[in-house]
Amino acid sequence: MDQANDIDALLPQTQCRRCGFDGCRPYAVALAAGSTALNRCPPGGEALISRLAALLGRSVLPLDPDRGSAGPPLVALIDETACIGCARCLDDCPTDAILGARRYLHVVLTADCSGCELCLPPCPVDCIRMVPAPDAGDQTLPWEAIQTRARRFRSRHERRQALGARRALPA
Ligand code: SF4
Ligand code: SF4
Ligand code: SF4
Repeated sequence: MDQANDIDALLPQTQCRRCGFDGCRPYAVALAAGSTALNRCPPGGEALISRLAALLGRSVLPLDPDRGSAGPPLVALIDETACIGCARCLDDCPTDAILGARRYLHVVLTADCSGCELCLPPCPVDCIRMVPAPDAGDQTLPWEAIQTRARRFRSRHERRQALGARRALPA
């Protein structure tokens, strides 16, 4: 499990599931077990692959194109004129970056949005689109920036999981 922790510490924490796992932590556990490839994380890109290769003593591989491509970070933007306040997008946001309540307009807290795109499929009126993150524009992030964002997303995701676990406790 120690190695899974070391791997997880390198992962971008967008929780986007593009690796084919149910978030960053499950991918880290599978990598530590040697049961998956180290080139399945587009948000981490080549910078992550080289660090994983060094940590795991494996060869560097090109990013698996079936997992998507690396690129500048995106954030979700909700079209205020089209949002019907159904609140369906709230459940899937791993960082609790969407503010709103049933029958009210929803908005995205840009700084907390990991760009995972998990809110897009549940929206019944397709009023969410992805736009360039304001602090990055069309620039692919350097490793230090990926790690800075990861710390924020990890904290948000862990808080969300803790709240969910508390809600699930028997009364
Ligand atoms: S950032 Fe996305 S693709 Fe990378 S490990 Fe986390 S969930 Fe998987
Ligand atoms: S607002 Fe959408 S894209 Fe942003 S973190 Fe939440 S679910 Fe992901
Ligand atoms: S799922 Fe779409 S319509 Fe429903 S609250 Fe979210 S953004 Fe608005």
